[in-house]
Amino acid sequence: MSSGQETPLVGKPLPSQLSPTCPGHGLAGVSESGSPQAQSRHLTAQMQSSLQPLCLSLETLHRVKGRMLEAMERGLSRRTHSQATVRMLPAFIRSTPDGTERGEFLVLELGDDHLRVLLMELSGDTDQRVTMEEQHFPVPDAIAQGPGEKLFAFLATCLWEFLDRLHVPRTDFELGFSFPFACRQTRLDQSYLISWSKGFQCPGVEGRDVVALLQEAINKQDRYRIKVIAVVNDTTGTMMSCDASAGPCEVGLVVDAGTNSCFMAEARHVEVVEESEGRMGVVTEWGSFGDNGALNDVLSPYDHQLDQASLNPGRERFEKMIGGLYLGEIVRHSLTELFSGRTTPALLTKGSVQTQDILEITDEQVGLATARRVLRALGLEASDQDCFNTQQVCSAVCTRAAGLCAAGLAAILSHMCRSRELSRLKTSVAVDGAVFRAHAKFRQTLQQLVKQLAPECDVTLVQAEGSGKGTGMVTAVASRLAVQRRQVNQTLALLQLSPDALGTVQALLRREMELGLKKETHASSSVRMLPTYICATPDGSERGDFLALDLGGTNFRVLLVKVGSRERGGVQIVSEIYSIPPHVAQGPGSQLFDHIVECIADFQTKQGMMGQTLPLGFTFSFPCQQTSLDQGILLSWTKGFNASGCVGHDVVKLLRDAVKRKNHFALDVVAIVNDTVGTMMSCGYDDPSCEVGLIVGTGTNACYMEELRNVGTLAGEEGRMCINMEWGAFGDNGCLDAFFTPFDRQVDEASLNPGRQRFEKLISGMYLGEIVRRILLELTAKGCLFRGRPSPKLQTPDIFQTKFLSSIESDGLALRQVCAILEELGLHVSCEDSVLVREVCQVVARRAAQLCGAAVAAVVEKIRENRGLEQLAVTVGVDGTLYKLHPHFAQHVQATVRQLAPRCSVTFLQSEDGSGKGAALIAAVACRVARHQRA
Ligand code: ADP
Ligand code: MG
Repeated sequence: MSSGQETPLVGKPLPSQLSPTCPGHGLAGVSESGSPQAQSRHLTAQMQSSLQPLCLSLETLHRVKGRMLEAMERGLSRRTHSQATVRMLPAFIRSTPDGTERGEFLVLELGDDHLRVLLMELSGDTDQRVTMEEQHFPVPDAIAQGPGEKLFAFLATCLWEFLDRLHVPRTDFELGFSFPFACRQTRLDQSYLISWSKGFQCPGVEGRDVVALLQEAINKQDRYRIKVIAVVNDTTGTMMSCDASAGPCEVGLVVDAGTNSCFMAEARHVEVVEESEGRMGVVTEWGSFGDNGALNDVLSPYDHQLDQASLNPGRERFEKMIGGLYLGEIVRHSLTELFSGRTTPALLTKGSVQTQDILEITDEQVGLATARRVLRALGLEASDQDCFNTQQVCSAVCTRAAGLCAAGLAAILSHMCRSRELSRLKTSVAVDGAVFRAHAKFRQTLQQLVKQLAPECDVTLVQAEGSGKGTGMVTAVASRLAVQRRQVNQTLALLQLSPDALGTVQALLRREMELGLKKETHASSSVRMLPTYICATPDGSERGDFLALDLGGTNFRVLLVKVGSRERGGVQIVSEIYSIPPHVAQGPGSQLFDHIVECIADFQTKQGMMGQTLPLGFTFSFPCQQTSLDQGILLSWTKGFNASGCVGHDVVKLLRDAVKRKNHFALDVVAIVNDTVGTMMSCGYDDPSCEVGLIVGTGTNACYMEELRNVGTLAGEEGRMCINMEWGAFGDNGCLDAFFTPFDRQVDEASLNPGRQRFEKLISGMYLGEIVRRILLELTAKGCLFRGRPSPKLQTPDIFQTKFLSSIESDGLALRQVCAILEELGLHVSCEDSVLVREVCQVVARRAAQLCGAAVAAVVEKIRENRGLEQLAVTVGVDGTLYKLHPHFAQHVQATVRQLAPRCSVTFLQSEDGSGKGAALIAAVACRVARHQRA
C-alpha cells in the first residue's frame, strides 16, 4: 500500500471510504449536495497540501486499529505488561449493572476544585429507578495543598454534614470513592496514589492506599458506619453509569481534555491478575499509544510541532491527536502553514486557538461566522476563502480525531469479539467528555467509522450519565456481587465434603459391607452384598460364539460375541441397540419380556442366525438374589424401571416363559450377570489383577472378589466369590442422612423409588443433572442467577441433562458453550451466570466423584485386609458413560482413592463393552464347567 494511492483527492468525487477523515466525507462544512457554498469555493493546491497530512484513509485507520490491538495484547500479557505503551490496567470491576442492584449507596467524588457527595438509591425492580441526593463542597486551597491527613478529615466531615442534613434514618452505608489521580490499583477497594495532579499536592499521600486513608478518617467518628468498598476511575465510571435495560454496556470511552477508554475483558486474558473466571474491567490508558513510534507514519508535521512545545514531549502521542486539550493547537499549527507569509504574533502564540472554537467552526450553520471571528481575534485579515479554508482545517482535525478514536474503539471491540469467541458482538459503548458533548458530528463520524472498522460488531453509542452515578453503580454492583457470593457459598457449602467427611463415608460403607456379608446382620445392612456364583476371573482360554443381552440402563442391547484366541483377534462383537420405551419399562412384566424376545428375534434375523441356539449370557443390572449362575430373583427395580409382576421372580424364568410364548424360538440362557461383574470379567480378560468392577452410568454399583469364608450367607470356606455389592442402596437405612442436602431430598422425593438407592442418587448420571437444576432454581430464587428469573423450561424436571455437566466443564469449551446450553433452556444468561452455573456443575460432579472414590477406597482396603497385605496392587474395571465422558470425574475418583486408601495402589481400567464381552466370557466359563460336569 503506497501512500500515493491513499492520497485523498479532494474535489473529485471519491468513494467516501477512501478518505473518511477528509473534508467532504464526514464532519466537513462542505455539503456534497451542491450547496451554493460548495459551488462557489474550491480547495486550492496550497490548501490541499496543508490538509493532506491530516487526512487518513480507511486503510490507514485499519492499520492503526491493528497496531492498537497489538499494543493492547502487550499490555494484557504478564511478560510485556510493564513495558507496554497501552498499559491495560485492571480495574477490578467484575460485572456491569444488570438492573437488579438495589439499596442506598454513598459516593464521594473528588473533582478539580470541589467535592461532590451523593446518596444514590436504586429500586432494583423491573425498571431500575435511580434517585440521587447530592451536595457540592468547595475544596479550599489550604486543603488541596495541605497535609494528607487534613484532606481526608475534610472528606469525612463533608460526609457527615451531608448525611446529617438529609436526616436519613440509616447509619450503615457502603461507599464508592471517585479519585481522579494516577493510581496503582490492586483491588476494587485498594489503590495507591502514584502522583498528585490538577492543583492537588497533599504531602504524605503518594505511595499510600487512598481507600485505607479515607476509611481511617471515616472511622474516627461513630455516628455512621460507612465502608469504602470501591475506588473508581472516571473511565470505568462512564461505562458503569449506563442504563442496563438496553442491553449490556461493556465499553467506556472518554474524550475530554485527554482521552481514555475501558472495557470488560475476559479475566483469563488479563494476565496480571490471578483470576481466570468471568470478566474484568480494564482501563486501556490508550493516550500513550504511539509513544514507542507506532504512530510515526500517521503523525503530521503539526503534531510534531505541538509535541515539541508540550510539557511532555514524545509522550501521550495518541491523546495529543484526539484530546480537547490539543485540538486547538493542531489547528493553530495548520493555520500557521496556511497563512504562511501572513502570520500574526497571536497566531504564533501557543494556546491562542481554543478547542471550543474549532468545534464550533465545523458547524454548518454558524461555522463560517465563527471562523471569521476567530481569525479576526488572531489579527488576521480574512477573506471568504480564508474562512472557508479554516473551516476545512478544523473539520479535518476533528474528523481525524474521531477517526483515530474509531480505530482505537474498533480494536477494543474486535478484541472483545475475538476473545469471547463470538461471530458477532453486540454492545453499547458509553461515551463522555467535552468533545462529545459539544460536537454531535464527532459522535456521528465515530459511530460510522467504527462500523466500517469493526464490521463484526453491533455498536450503539450512548451518552453516559455522569461519573457520580457511575461510581455509585460500581459500588452497587460490587455490593450485589458480594451478597450473591455469600449466598452462593452458603448454598454450595452443603455439597462440599471435607477429607474427614469422606473418611466417614468410607468407614460407614465398610461397616455396611460387613453387616451385609454376615448372615445374622444381612437384613439390617443397606448394601446387600449379593453372591454372584462367579468364583474366578477369566484365564484367557475361553472360546466360542455367544449371545449376550444387556438390560439395565439407557439402552437395551443384543450382542453376538465371538471369543477367539488372541492371535485370531480375541473378542469380536456385533451388536444392535433397541429402545425400551418408558411405558414398557414401567408396564406389565410380561410385556417387557415379550419385547425383549422380539428384539432378540429381530437381531437373529438380521444376523442370519435364525434357528441357531447359542449359549446366552444375560446382563441384567438390577439387584438379584442368585442361587446359581443361571437363576436370579429380582429384589427391586432401580433407575427408570418399574415393570409389574417381576420383583420376587426369577428373571431367567421370566425370559424363558416369554420365549415359550413365542413358538418356534429357542434360547439357551446359561448365566445371569450383573453389569459390574461383566465389567470386572471383561477387564480381567486383559488384566488378571482386575478384581473390582465399577459402574458409573445411569446408576452406580460395584462388585469385587471376596473371600468365601467371609460370606456368611453362603456355605464354603475356600476360595473367593465375586460379590455384587449393590452399593447404590447404601444409606437407604438412614446411615448417610447427614450427607443429604435439601436438593438431594427433593430429587429423591420426586423419583420413581423414593427413599431407595440413596447413594446412587448422589452419584449417577440419572440424577446429577437434576441435582444441578434444583440448585440453579434455588440460586435463582435467591437472586444470584438469571436476574432472579427462572425460565419455564428450567422449572421442568429432568430438563437439565447430566451430559450438560460434561460439556460445561470441558476445558476446551469457552463459557460461550455454557451460554448456548442455557439459552436452549430459554434462559437469558450473563457472563456471571455462566460462570456460576459452571461452578455449580463442578461442585455437584466433584461431590459425586469423591463419594464414589470413598466407596472404592472402602472396597480396596477390605480386599487388602482380607489378604493380610501391607500393600495391595489391584485393578478396578470401570464402565459407564458418566465416568468415561465427564472431563474430571475419573480424576476426582482416583485422587480420593489415593487419599483414603494410601496402602493400595489402584489402577483404573476402562472396560470396552463390559456388559457384552463380560457376559459372553461368563457364559463361556459356564459352558466349560458344564462340559466338565457332564464328562
Ligand atoms: P447405562 O448405565 O444405562 O448402561 P451408560 O453407561 O451409557 O448407560 O450411562 C448413561 C448415562 O450416562 C445417562 O443416563 C446419562 O445420564 C449419562 N451421560 C450420557 N452422556 C454423558 C456425558 N457426555 N457426560 C456425562 N454423563 C453422560
Ligand atoms: Mg451399562
